[in-house]
Amino acid sequence: MDASEVLGELKKISSDFSTQTNERQKRRELDPEDFLRLKDAGFLMTGVPQQQGGLWQGAAVSARQYAEFVRVIAHGDPCVALVASMHPAVTTFFLGVEEVTDSPEAWLEQRQWVIESAKTSWWGTVTSEPGSGGDILKTQSVAELVDGGYVLSGDKHFGSGSGHTDYMVTTGRVEGSELPELFYLQNKNVPWDGSTGCQLTVPWDGMGMSSTQSHAFRFDRFPVTKAVSTEILVRVAPVSAQISNMMFTGVILGVADNALAFARTKLDGKIPEMRAFEQVEWTRCRNDLWLAEQAFQGALRSVEREEADAHITATRCKIVCAELVEAGLARMAKVVGGASYSKAMPLAQWTEDVKALGFLRPPLPLAYDQVMN
Ligand SMILES: Cc1cc2nc3c(=O)[nH]c(=O)nc-3n(C[C@H](O)[C@H](O)[C@H](O)COP(=O)(O)OP(=O)(O)OC[C@H]3O[C@@H](n4cnc5c(N)ncnc54)[C@H](O)[C@@H]3O)c2cc1C
Repeated sequence: MDASEVLGELKKISSDFSTQTNERQKRRELDPEDFLRLKDAGFLMTGVPQQQGGLWQGAAVSARQYAEFVRVIAHGDPCVALVASMHPAVTTFFLGVEEVTDSPEAWLEQRQWVIESAKTSWWGTVTSEPGSGGDILKTQSVAELVDGGYVLSGDKHFGSGSGHTDYMVTTGRVEGSELPELFYLQNKNVPWDGSTGCQLTVPWDGMGMSSTQSHAFRFDRFPVTKAVSTEILVRVAPVSAQISNMMFTGVILGVADNALAFARTKLDGKIPEMRAFEQVEWTRCRNDLWLAEQAFQGALRSVEREEADAHITATRCKIVCAELVEAGLARMAKVVGGASYSKAMPLAQWTEDVKALGFLRPPLPLAYDQVMN
């Protein structure tokens, strides 16, 4: 599959989405039709290695392509882009390592099962736990072995794409294991009334990214499948960090692109007449967004050069872009004036959407810990 052809298809889909911005911004739910279109465009193949007809060529090649894919989708609908980004961000847990030493046969078999499923099924993640600050190591949920299979109990939240995705990865503590373990679970068509161990506790009510269905759940002995290796989480973390940080940043830069284009139309012909304050704020807004783009490009180059600390650079890029884009859009709103505050105009919602980058894994406090050296 050719990445440039997929990108071309995504541009067409995004262009259609962008004609419905006002209606889409009012949505509180995902539309399955949108994801069928992304699937037909080949997006699911981001979870399949190139050798098997897919798009995954390792972080050094795929990070830029995948970040560009979701940036383009965000031009049409940021919520769809964010939920879609979870598919490669999650399948990377399995694609990012070719083999492990503790049980290679079983691991390779499981990895292949995930690859086959990724060709037709959407993957997501319901890993975050209330109070964990996005830190997987603070996982409290417990996974127990019952009759040869694992069941998970505990609270999880921010499960973007809940009810839409076919499978989700998650984490749980297993007795005798020092680190939390990686699991996956069936998501689609699972009842949310607790009857099979999955209870919806807080429906997603985000001020931004409003239709991502990032609901909270309580699991009570819900069936999960354990990732075969105990090594995976540690070994794959740098690969996963590069892909997820660059994709999440790509989504938010796509929203910033939308906002800048909108502001330009509003300010068309008015810039030379603007008052001193507006000129300064507009210039500083442009500086913030320019700097964010430089950080993004610099981090992608680091990933492409396979630098040893590329995963740290990708995290630093996510921090910097979260802060610059949020600040840039706040300045933009002051210059655009009343149109930035009206629900009939898209900018108010975009200024909320971009705040998601600071919360997405690793959320800012955890991200700062990771880049401190
Ligand atoms: C748009 C978006 C999408 C995300 N998608 C995912 C995903 O797909 N998978 C994933 O694992 N993580 C996802 N995350 C979570 C993210 O990765 C971090 O784990 C999370 O933001 C951690 O935030 P925190 O440190 O503030 O949370 P915590 O330290 O966990 O604290 C948050 C507190 O807020 C409370 N709270 C949260 N939502 C509500 C609510 N609606 N009503 C009342 N109280 C509430 C919690 O109970 C908790 O006490 C997403 C975050 C955002 C913003």
